[in-house]
Amino acid sequence: MSTPFTQIPILGMNFIKATNTAFLEQIKKDSLAHKNRFIVTANPEIVLAAQKDSKFADIIAHADYTTADGIGIVKGARILNTPLPERITGYDTMCSLLKWANEQHKKVYFLGAKPAVITDVLKNVHANYPSINISGFHDGYFNDDATIIKEISDTQPDFVFIALGFPKQEFFIAKNRFSSPSIWMGVGGSFDVLAG
Ligand code: UDP
Repeated sequence: MSTPFTQIPILGMNFIKATNTAFLEQIKKDSLAHKNRFIVTANPEIVLAAQKDSKFADIIAHADYTTADGIGIVKGARILNTPLPERITGYDTMCSLLKWANEQHKKVYFLGAKPAVITDVLKNVHANYPSINISGFHDGYFNDDATIIKEISDTQPDFVFIALGFPKQEFFIAKNRFSSPSIWMGVGGSFDVLAG
């Protein structure tokens, strides 16, 4: 784990003490330096699941950045006298990074969701972020990681967004993240929203 942010421990997880702006600036910096990074935007369901599953908790403990994706977590932090400035959600973070990736002509790999959904995600990305270089994509229903990982490793995307739902996406990232020096992020149901 590597982070320039103060870590705030709540319910067994270490959340970064950062505003959305500061967090995004840090990710942009990491991306420009081709750092390998694993982002978890932890919503209350993820926090609960990690409390029940020590393997999942361990995976999250090895993420570089865990953000508080829930107003309850932000309120809890205030009550514990270790305040977090605000919520940092997966969907908003993904959209902000797509906007920046478009401005910077960055490479992005999209993995996850049903085949019809990922098709609509790509249409949306073509329409709204035309300068993004889509380095590859795959729906989230596959048996073998190998072809996907080869494609990621061959194309070295700047960002890999993974919408397999938790804990699948976090296990996938932990297992495969060193195949490419990318920013890896689990985005849960965000492709369903991005598909429109
Ligand atoms: N998903 C997937 N492969 C799977 C299971 C789920 O691609 O094996 C996708 C699903 O189609 C949806 C996303 O993961 O787009 C989020 O699923 P879910 O709503 O179950 O997870 P959550 O949003 O609660 O993390």
